[in-house]
Amino acid sequence: MSDRYCVFGNPVHHSRSPAIHRAFAAQCAQDVSYTAILAPIGGFTEAVGEFVASGGRGANVTLPFKEEAFALASRLSERARIAGAVNTLDFAGPGILGDNTDGAGLVQDLTGNLGLSIAGRRVLLLGAGGAARGVLGPLLEAGPRLLVVANRTVARAQALARRFAGVARVHACGFDDLAGESFDLVINATSASLTGDVPPLPKGLFAAGALAYDMVYGDTETPFLGLARRQGVERLADGLGMLVEQAAESFLVWRGVRPQTTPVIAMLRVARPPAGQR
Ligand code: NAP
Repeated sequence: MSDRYCVFGNPVHHSRSPAIHRAFAAQCAQDVSYTAILAPIGGFTEAVGEFVASGGRGANVTLPFKEEAFALASRLSERARIAGAVNTLDFAGPGILGDNTDGAGLVQDLTGNLGLSIAGRRVLLLGAGGAARGVLGPLLEAGPRLLVVANRTVARAQALARRFAGVARVHACGFDDLAGESFDLVINATSASLTGDVPPLPKGLFAAGALAYDMVYGDTETPFLGLARRQGVERLADGLGMLVEQAAESFLVWRGVRPQTTPVIAMLRVARPPAGQR
């Protein structure tokens, strides 16, 4: 029987992760099956328990369960411990290993696929949820000159910045406080695009030549990328590349091999997935 993996989320029906991992398995000649499982709100731990009892080897975790997955793990990778959020569970060893591949996936997409140098740049991260927690550490490791986290609930941005106080100076604020500032890279790690919303951002936020990056992806332009384009930004990227890169990192954790991502990103672009999350 194939080794079983899945992604837990709510909602999860739009997930592209099964298609990605099936493509990875075929490419790497690994006998793996991968499905999407809708876990009830308040029922994440039970859903994981059932999957493990039925022979599941590992899982991805998407919103809104990344912080619950962190609490559930009995062992944590260093990057998951720093993030306080888990997107990858491995059931193969003793207990449950929690890892976080979101940050490595984002940085690989920005630097490898999009050719951006983060070192010395002014970076703005919008959002302070599970995705923002996962990417902050790897973004800081890439050496930006300035890293600001802005969130609708300012206290959450402040709490996130405090987590990294020993690593580097992270500035935390609300959206209004951004007036008069400009950035070379603006990453939307809020889920606002999923509901057709865009954070209320002041004009002039994008420096000349800036890259606007939305972690959300879809077959049409996301509201955040539309706003950036109307403000004159020419370098726009959605989160499909990050999705595939973080999946490749999870595959590496589970199977010990990192698949080629370029053909899988190209396959998904052609398949034109529906707007949504992984
Ligand atoms: P989450 O933990 O639920 O956090 C949601 C974040 O969005 C919070 O900071 C929240 O602010 C903010 N937010 C929600 N609605 C908003 C609105 N209308 N205006 C302004 N801010 C709003 O979700 P998550 O796990 O961090 O995921 C965030 C997004 O990243 C999702 O869309 C997810 O699909 C995407 N993602 C993509 C990838 C990828 O591989 N491409 C990987 C991970 C996540 P408050 O704190 O004020 O509530």
